[in-house]
Amino acid sequence: MSGPGAVTAPRTLDEDLAPQLTPRQSVAESTRCLYCYDAPCVRACPTGIDIPGFIRRIANGQPHGAAMTILGQNIMGGTCARVCPTEVLCEQACVLNGAEQRPVSIGRLQRFATDALMREGGPHPFARAPSSGKRVAVVGAGPAGLACAHRLAMLGHEVEIYEAKDKAGGLNEYGIAAYKMVQDFARREAKFILAIGGIKLHYGKALGRQVKLDELAAKFDAVFLGVGLGDTRDLDIAGEELRGVADAVAFIEKLRQAKKGGFPRVGKRVVVIGGGNTAIDAAIQSRILGAAEVTMVYRRGPEQMSATGYEQQLAKSAGVVVHTWLAPRKIKGSGGKVAAVEFARTRLDGKGKLAETKETISIPCDMVLKAVGQTLVEKTLAGLALKGGKIAVDKDYRTSRKGVFAGGDCTKTGEDLTVQAVQDGKLAAHAIDRYLRA
Ligand code: SF4
Repeated sequence: MSGPGAVTAPRTLDEDLAPQLTPRQSVAESTRCLYCYDAPCVRACPTGIDIPGFIRRIANGQPHGAAMTILGQNIMGGTCARVCPTEVLCEQACVLNGAEQRPVSIGRLQRFATDALMREGGPHPFARAPSSGKRVAVVGAGPAGLACAHRLAMLGHEVEIYEAKDKAGGLNEYGIAAYKMVQDFARREAKFILAIGGIKLHYGKALGRQVKLDELAAKFDAVFLGVGLGDTRDLDIAGEELRGVADAVAFIEKLRQAKKGGFPRVGKRVVVIGGGNTAIDAAIQSRILGAAEVTMVYRRGPEQMSATGYEQQLAKSAGVVVHTWLAPRKIKGSGGKVAAVEFARTRLDGKGKLAETKETISIPCDMVLKAVGQTLVEKTLAGLALKGGKIAVDKDYRTSRKGVFAGGDCTKTGEDLTVQAVQDGKLAAHAIDRYLRA
């Protein structure tokens, strides 16, 4: 099992970044756990999984029981085992770090248990409560929407999901590098979640186009919005229209959905602008696809990047050059095609605000991938109150409109992480249940 120093980028698009543990490895790893009382790893988990509890079950040779402990709190435990930044969540909190040992590999043990349960097949492991006679519309079949729909179904409600695309899973299906979610795991997990019953899924129904919030609010007893962030930010600089400038989210989606051999073409010299997971995934995949030089550029320092230290290391191990304290100023072209990006060196001014200096550098390239964040598609929300560019919700996930709830990335309840979206969906389902039974 690799330790914390062994950060190695995948060499192919679908190489499994953290392959599953064998049964023998999982038992050996689980016996390293001290089964702490008031375990800090549990407090660091946004979904509050009983981590020592599931690890003890693995040690006792009960992976099914371990998976039930995980999935009871986080129905997307399989995805989160693969994509959670455990290095800044549960594994960072593990007491073994203080004992100058590596932390327990909680993410890989979680994957071992959840994969074992999904491999078993068989009936869905959670039962539904007697029918409440209530109907709830869920908009978006991403992590928040699926988690909400599953918990609502468990609580006895009938659910209809309206999804804009033609597959369920949201970012799990479209927005995460294939090496983090190999094969068709997102599809299989969505199928597993829907197998609880009582959930009808409508594809090709985008909010504001094929389906309107007003109609859903009139037709259903409650509505949950798990619409994520559907727009991508522009750089707002000259040259963005040049050929060879693309959006990193769209680039990753194309890669995820491409059949083998039909991958999008990548430039020889690629500049990726941004400092989050999307930037890292786009940069690493550009290298795998054959780009000779990939440079990732972020306007602040490495500590301010939303990509964790581990992910930054991963990018560097793939040969990605990372530049910090540089802000894009203009994209230069030649014959209508991108030729270079000019950056201004940045620094913090006396008040701690980011400021551009007069110093500039130019990085030659033939492809630019923009990964500077995503925004809400406001016009589809029929006048719901917003806060900080996201849907405003109270502690019970209620929006400004009665009977309409929201959670996940379209709200500001925590970090924009899959695990947070799942927690939002689950807690919102309980809030909706209280609302419907009041
Ligand atoms: Fe086990 Fe580490 Fe959690 Fe303690 S903090 S229960 S050792 S995983």
